[in-house]
Amino acid sequence: KAKRSADSFVLYQQGQDENYQRQLHIIGIFEESMADGSMYLEYQPKVNLNSGQCTEAEALLRWQDKELGFISPEEFIQLAELSGNIRAVTNWVIEEVIKQIILWQAKGLSLRVSVNISVDDLLDKGFRFIVRSLLEKYSINPRCLSFEITESVIMSDPELAVESMNIFKDLGISIAIDDFGTGYSSLSYLKKVPASELKIDKSFVIDFDNNEEDRMIVETSVELAHSFGMKVVAEGVETESCLQQLKTFGCDLGQGYFFTRALRANDFEAWCEKFNSN
Ligand code: C2E
Ligand code: CA
Ligand code: CA
Ligand code: CA
Repeated sequence: KAKRSADSFVLYQQGQDENYQRQLHIIGIFEESMADGSMYLEYQPKVNLNSGQCTEAEALLRWQDKELGFISPEEFIQLAELSGNIRAVTNWVIEEVIKQIILWQAKGLSLRVSVNISVDDLLDKGFRFIVRSLLEKYSINPRCLSFEITESVIMSDPELAVESMNIFKDLGISIAIDDFGTGYSSLSYLKKVPASELKIDKSFVIDFDNNEEDRMIVETSVELAHSFGMKVVAEGVETESCLQQLKTFGCDLGQGYFFTRALRANDFEAWCEKFNSN
């Protein structure tokens, strides 16, 4: 028995070591991956539930590496944050999104696209200047851009977070609170946060049809958000019946596999044209 546990200890050590090597490797290739096309963006529609039109999209990072294959954003975003690469990654994402917005506008497709913002971005005062200079460089309407910021990022330094959010708001970029319901027990921060959108976390929406409590949480969140003058986005809309319920709750936008998964820009464009003409 002692031997067995000694063996499994060795295995465990080897497993840890392999994982460590993998992480080091991933951290080492961030920069080239942004440049060589193995890192790219997909876009997932946010559908306006009143008009039935797709008016917004969320940009989601993807990474298909030559050697490692598909690396999930859950894995590499965390590594980017830990290794200090996230600032460069976010800058790259914003510039890619701005270029895409301009391409779409030239084709008559006018969309607001949201970008996920990490804690290092929000709390870095240099980030504001980079955002402003990107807006100037491409002279796009800042209303086409929005930032998704999670509750936990806001709570890491509420004062500085709110200060930064106000600066983005003044620039004309709208702010969404992401993963709402997962982060924080007190809601008092809501009145200080200059957000125009509240995104209800998919964990409350996915199992909606079978879960009375989830439905209550969502219904209450919609009322709460509206009382603060915010629009509500439900993520994780996977079924028709979920969509119908969300409409009866007065939810403003829906995002999820029921409409489509995130798509490459060209596929997104085709999807959107078809969806909006129905
Ligand atoms: P998130 O911001 O909460 O993004 C929503 C996630 O839910 C996405 O996962 C999306 O593909 C997934 N999703 C959308 N609809 C459905 C649905 O109907 N059912 C289910 N089960 N899932 C759905 P994804 O793309 O794997 O991204 C995971 C997380 O990685 C994101 O969560 C976000 O926190 C992070 N992430 C992705 N791209 C970026 C980025 O450019 N920057 C930063 N900082 N984080 C990013
Ligand atoms: Ca998000
Ligand atoms: Ca989310
Ligand atoms: Ca999330």
